[in-house]
Amino acid sequence: MTLANEKNGYFSEIQINSHCYLMKFSYFCIAKHKKNQLIKPMAKVTFKSYNPNDNLLFPPCLGDYLPKNHNARVVSAIIDRLDISEIESGYKGGGASSYNPRMLLKVIVYAYLNNVYSGRKMERLLVENVAFMWLSGMQRPDFRTINLFRSKRLAGKFDSLFTQVVLLLNEEGFVSLDVQYIDGTKIESAANKYTFVWKGSVEKNKARLETKVRSVLETAEQTLELEGSEPEEELSSEEMARRAEAILDKMDREGISDKKMRKAVEKVKSEKAPKMREYEDKLETLGERNSFSKTDPDATFMRMKEDAMNNGQTKPGYNVQIATENQFITNYGIFWRPTDQGTLIPFLDSFQARYGKQSGEICADSGYGSEQNYEYMFGNGIVPYVKYNMFHAEDKRKRRQNPFLIQNLHYNETDDYFVCPMGQHMEHIGDVTVKSDLGYESTVSRYIARNCSGCPLRGMCYKAAADRRIIEVNHKNNAYRRKAKELLTSERGIYHRGNRPIEPEAVFGDIKFNHGFKRFRLKSNEKVKTEFGLVALAHNIRKYIAINQSNMAKNIKNNAPKRPCLPLAWNLKRFHEAC
Ligand code: SF4
Repeated sequence: MTLANEKNGYFSEIQINSHCYLMKFSYFCIAKHKKNQLIKPMAKVTFKSYNPNDNLLFPPCLGDYLPKNHNARVVSAIIDRLDISEIESGYKGGGASSYNPRMLLKVIVYAYLNNVYSGRKMERLLVENVAFMWLSGMQRPDFRTINLFRSKRLAGKFDSLFTQVVLLLNEEGFVSLDVQYIDGTKIESAANKYTFVWKGSVEKNKARLETKVRSVLETAEQTLELEGSEPEEELSSEEMARRAEAILDKMDREGISDKKMRKAVEKVKSEKAPKMREYEDKLETLGERNSFSKTDPDATFMRMKEDAMNNGQTKPGYNVQIATENQFITNYGIFWRPTDQGTLIPFLDSFQARYGKQSGEICADSGYGSEQNYEYMFGNGIVPYVKYNMFHAEDKRKRRQNPFLIQNLHYNETDDYFVCPMGQHMEHIGDVTVKSDLGYESTVSRYIARNCSGCPLRGMCYKAAADRRIIEVNHKNNAYRRKAKELLTSERGIYHRGNRPIEPEAVFGDIKFNHGFKRFRLKSNEKVKTEFGLVALAHNIRKYIAINQSNMAKNIKNNAPKRPCLPLAWNLKRFHEAC
């Protein structure tokens, strides 16, 4: 409707219709409102009574608030089945009563299950969270008690608890312990990244100090006609202090007042000798390592995969090795070596010590495929589905079709010689022994093609300037590699190779990225091992719950005869006992 139209004194048909409709609707609404007023009065709003400080008629049982298949009940049921006498034996007795170690263990394991790794957060949850309150029986240990229990009481004793849980899983058929999928990852230490001590700089500074002090002591001894030590002998901190003391003694006895000499010798005694002692201690802490952290001397500087700055900066950390089966962790170890190769043998030994037997099959990536490791595994009756570094590359067409590569030269085993592409016999000229960083000695055989001058293939064959080609071959390692290749390309080997990426690698991914465990909270080898043990135990329980829940869901879906799943069976019993 427009004003102009109204002024003109007429309305269009649509305008008349809309007027009528609005009037009709207004009358209808007024009538309805009046009718409602007469028939139905407006409903009264009522709120539920709310008084947070109200007293309950009966004291509540906290268990009533937890569902029957709650994860806290599973943790409680599992920990109740463990023998913790080793931890209990660590309590001296006397004084104030201590918190029950089983309760503290349940609280800590349940916290790790829920990605809570901080003692202070655990303390808070013991006040706020019903599951934690139920696990602790309403007791409230503070963060100091929790941290002390985790770092001191569990240190060195947690391994046996983890083993007991894996044996329970073995009993229930979740793991057979006959196969290990092994892999490692680096996890950052709690120490700061700027706390490094490098072996190279310690040795350099120590040598510099030794030269300076030797010169001061020798000058003084020559002046006083005192007998010193042999020049090639290492000048230790004790030797420094002893010789400085002898010089000062003689000066006192004979009344020699050479102020400059006395000052220099006194400085050796009071400053240089303690500094030397410091270097010696650092070298002792370093041992075979190249670095350590001042605030966590067991942590070694290594390159991490997760490099936020992408600048290859090294950080203090530990190399964590795990063995998995059906994605359950069956063994774990903490190592300082950044590479996996040197960790395999001690890791397999720890599996043997843990379970009193060795698994028959090992599956690992090429980082573990060394002569020493193959020798150990074949020698101990283990079937190694372990790759070596050229496993994939050697089958590439470019390599297979290159006649100059050692792997493609014909070898006459009876007479022990190689034949080069021009048909020249390459004679065996001797063996050399090569020692690895781990101290393992390999024998490398050398073969020579004596006359290569004038050979038309010379440019393609080798790059050295001499007119003869020498090759080095490790026959023992090659034999191991051939055996490993046979295993890896067998039906079983292909099955294991397919499984490996979804075994330890998936477990590490889950722990680090889904559950946010990327850095240790504790320091030193023993404590770090306990901490990772807790992470591994929590992972196994989580996996166990997930499998059982999935089985239960399948049972319901398929209308299969109802069979209570394992944690529920345990929990049901516990639940009835508790309530
Ligand atoms: S360069 Fe020497 S070793 Fe190489 S193909 Fe010729 S003769 Fe044989």
